[in-house]
Parts: sequence; structure tokens; C-alpha cells
Amino acid sequence: MVARAMDIFITLDYEIYFGSNTGTVAKCIIEPTEMLIKIAQKHDVQFSFFVDCGFLLKLDEFRKKYSALEKDYTVIVSQIKQLSSEGHDIQLHIHPHWEDSYYNGEQWIINTKRYKLADFSSNEIEDIVKRYKKVIIDITGKAVFVNRAGGWCMQPFDKLKDSMKANGIKVDSTVFTDAKNLSHPYNYDFTNAPNKTSWTFEDNPVEEKENGFFKEIAISSIKVSPLFYWKLFLVGRMNPYQHKPLGDGRPIASSGYRRNLLSNYTQQPVSIDGDNAKLLNKALRQTSKKGNEFVVLGHPKALSRFSINALEAFVIQHKANHNFTTYTNYFKP
Ligand SMILES: [Zn+2]
Repeated sequence: MVARAMDIFITLDYEIYFGSNTGTVAKCIIEPTEMLIKIAQKHDVQFSFFVDCGFLLKLDEFRKKYSALEKDYTVIVSQIKQLSSEGHDIQLHIHPHWEDSYYNGEQWIINTKRYKLADFSSNEIEDIVKRYKKVIIDITGKAVFVNRAGGWCMQPFDKLKDSMKANGIKVDSTVFTDAKNLSHPYNYDFTNAPNKTSWTFEDNPVEEKENGFFKEIAISSIKVSPLFYWKLFLVGRMNPYQHKPLGDGRPIASSGYRRNLLSNYTQQPVSIDGDNAKLLNKALRQTSKKGNEFVVLGHPKALSRFSINALEAFVIQHKANHNFTTYTNYFKP
């Protein structure tokens, strides 16, 4: 039993893949999101979408040259409009490697040499935050004030702070406690984050500062055993229809990542991606001991039929006792 009523945020990073095969917009974004929209309508709950704005800007730029991209751009813009009009939150997800990536007429050529915002100059950062935020407002006409850093890379934050402030981005939802990954292209260290579900900060998201300008609503975090991943890989092999990701691309290769999951306990974001959805109830119980906010991460591209069913079961089980919310509703005065 979970004693306190929790504010539950189901959050989705709305993006294609960034590996050698980016996958299609239809399979990675549109179709899985349609499945989420159905669940939301059926149970009258809303989710929060962190839209990969850099991709939208590149689509807009290259569709003028390559008509094949016109449809991708149109269906994404129309789906974002639908999500927003049905009460889902549309917020900022910054993957600045789009600045160096392009479409060659056949596929996207992804360059992740500058993967994190802090890899850019102060002027470039200011310009990226401003343009990426504007592209959402142009579509939804609603306020944008929350950021989730692409690939969890938001450190060193003192380099980003002024641009965030200048653009009215006062909430962050990136940190997941105790996690750390310093292997390229990632660069984050959340090992000293407060043992809470939300806090205020100023210069570093993992250092709480009373009356800081920024509020962190942390992604909930859970320790996962290697056995869990062994089972997951076996189950996936036996029943790919239920357990395979709906997206048709490939993630960025990260050396030793899979081996690490299979041999050590690891700290993971609470997630509805694939079989991670099995851990939702355990994670909710654990998180309720720390604070009021339960933030679940997901990616339309990484959802599976299994995980979408698990999300629906989770909503049905907890809707009466907890508050499924969005950032906009949560911060409503
Ligand atoms: Zn992302």
C-alpha cells in the first residue's frame, strides 16, 4: 500500500532514434503516441511530452529541399496540436546535436560530436534555447517553462543557467538520483542529488538551494538487479510481438552499457519503456517514502505492446487514489 497521495507524471521524450538508423517518424513517434492518446482519452488522464525541438527545426529546414520530409513534418505538427488541445503538456527537450546533423536525401546523418548543450558557446546556447522554445509555442500557443535535457546532459549547469532564465525555463525534470554516466556521448553525475522528489536549485541541479530560481521535479529512480535484465532479454526473445520496441531505429551505441546492466546493480530512471514497466508499482512504493512527486519516463519509440498495457493497468489501479498530473496543471496557481 502507498500511504500518501502522489502526484504522478507520465512523461514521454518525443523523438526518433539517434544511432546509425534513426527509424521512421511513423513507427518511432506517431503510431505509439496514438496508442497513448487512446489510453488517455479512455481514462481521462493527461501526459507530458518533451518534444525534440531540434528535430522539428531540421525537418522544417530540409522539407523545403526534400519533399519526402514534408509528410513527417505535417504529421508531427498535427499530432502535437492534437496532444496540446487534449490537455497534454508540451514542453522542451533539447538535443542540440541536431545543429550539426542533416538529411542527405535518403536518411538523417546524425553527428553527436557536440551532444550536450554545454559543448556550445554561450551565444550559441542562448540562441538554441530561444529557437527550440519558440518552435513549440508557434505550434501550441501555450506556455513553455519546463526542460528535460537530452540524454540527461545538463551539467555543468552554470553554463546554461542564464539562457534558461532569459527564456523563462524555470522547471527542470532531468535528474534521476544516484545515476552517473560519464562515457561519451553522455555526461551526467547525479550521485549527490538530494534524497527527495523535488527541490529548488541555482547553479547545479544536484545541489539544493533554498529560494533558488529553478525547481527540479526529479525523474523517479530505482535500483535494478542484473537478474531483471537477464529475464528481460530472455522474455523479449521468446515473445517479440509483445516485448519488442515499437520504434524501428537504433539507439546510439554506448560501449559496455549492456554488459554493465547484465553484471551489476544499476540505478535506472523509472520508466515505461519496454519491460521496465514491470517495476512501476515497486517504484511507486519506494518513491512515496521520499516525497510527493512520482515522475515516470518513457519514449514512444521504446514502448512495447506489453509496456502500453502495463501503463494502462497502472492508470486503472491508481487513478482513484493518486493524482495523474502534468507540469502545467501542477504549477497552476
Ligand atoms: Zn531525448
